Amino acid sequence: MSEFVLQIDGKEVTAREGMTIVEAAKSVGIRIPTLCHHDQLEPYGACRICTVEAEANGRNQLVAACVYPAEKGMVVQTRTEKLAKIRKVLVEQMMAHAPDAPQLLELAEEYGADRDRFEKDPSFCILCGLCVRYCNEVKKKNAIGYIDRGPRREISFIPDVAGKECWDCKECFPLCPTSALQAAYVLTEALAAPPEEAAPEAGCACSCSCSGSCG
Ligand code: SF4
Repeated sequence: MSEFVLQIDGKEVTAREGMTIVEAAKSVGIRIPTLCHHDQLEPYGACRICTVEAEANGRNQLVAACVYPAEKGMVVQTRTEKLAKIRKVLVEQMMAHAPDAPQLLELAEEYGADRDRFEKDPSFCILCGLCVRYCNEVKKKNAIGYIDRGPRREISFIPDVAGKECWDCKECFPLCPTSALQAAYVLTEALAAPPEEAAPEAGCACSCSCSGSCG
């Protein structure tokens, strides 16, 4: 496979054909922030937090480094004032959905993002697609997918498949940058449970789920 040289943050980097900018940067220890990227999965480019400035063939453009291929002679900047502003707004938008997500809180600190800038819509999902793609591409189970479109788009376990496959797997849970996936799975389990399992235990007359201790 042919090799070529590009420049990232002023450093000469030798990359192989087919490498993305994120991969080329990583090979020399330059960290570009990512949320939807995973080494085992096909590049996706959903969160755009990896946006960098790339100059090639006389054109300077903003590109998603996790999907954009490294090119011979390309000059890449991963940390500029312009990029910091873009990442700040992206983090603020995602925090409207998942204000307490640890990875977002770290990025918010790094870029000075205001977690309360946008009206809260706590879906707890930033649609990075890691769970869906991991299940499809690595596990080949298709136990989770997207439902709806546009602003109503969300992920959902497919109860029939998830009920059989997920219990002994759970491999996608730690990939979730908002840690919400486990809760979604538990919810699906509860919804899929037969009525006698879901009903309150004997001894409680109300509709809560305690075992008779709520008074
Ligand atoms: S836990 Fe379920 S949804 Fe997640 S990877 Fe495993 S089979 Fe797929």
